[in-house]
Amino acid sequence: MTVARVNDTPPALEQISAWLESATRVVVLTGAGISTASGIPDFRGPQGLWTRDPEAEKLSDIRYYVSDPAIRRKAWQARRDSPVWQASPGAGHYALARLEQSGRLHTLVTQNIDGLHQLAGSADERVIEIHGTLRQVACLQCNYRVAMAVVLKRLADGEEDPDCPECGGILKSATISFGQSLVAKDLARAEQAAHDCDLLLAVGSTLSVFPVAGLVPLARKAGARVVIINAEPTAMDEFGDAVLMGDIELLLPQLIV
Ligand SMILES: [Zn+2]
Repeated sequence: MTVARVNDTPPALEQISAWLESATRVVVLTGAGISTASGIPDFRGPQGLWTRDPEAEKLSDIRYYVSDPAIRRKAWQARRDSPVWQASPGAGHYALARLEQSGRLHTLVTQNIDGLHQLAGSADERVIEIHGTLRQVACLQCNYRVAMAVVLKRLADGEEDPDCPECGGILKSATISFGQSLVAKDLARAEQAAHDCDLLLAVGSTLSVFPVAGLVPLARKAGARVVIINAEPTAMDEFGDAVLMGDIELLLPQLIV
């Protein structure tokens, strides 16, 4: 584990922990790195889904998805077989739930679609799933929305590309695919929270995907402390008051006791 601060003496772990203790309005931003210990592979890392199978990236591209029934059939199989259904929250998820229970966490913005923060005890109303959730299915044509389990049951009953029972439209997991916009009100809420926080803690994200990555400089410019924890350097390290490189499962429980 290394701790670095640009142009200054690196703050000790105790110092960062003290910052968190004294903060009253923390915004947390999480990415794939907080869930890899739960057995959910990331997308672009060395063992990432898209690194090992570039074709798989097509399953998450809305243009292929709407135009090619074969891609949709493959996508439904991938959802059925997703490691998310077997995954349990890890020490990092539980540490963030503790931060919320202490009354200091204002908003948790996650890029993950696995729902593990809520399973660890984070309240739904505090979590913004900025890239959507795999636990719900939405129709691309109408407002039909239902639990994933309902549609996976249809799959188990023999449908390969289940359509919308309301309008006959194309169903998809309620996740944001390539080519789809983020939900405007979710992004606005996340930006407001980052603007108003006194400490922004980014965990397990390479902070390279916009507009989410932009929350870091936004918080910093509005006067918040920024703490970044990731296994590798991130694109936003220059904005960190502290940048911790190491194992999230070990570091977060030390910082949030
Ligand atoms: Zn529909």
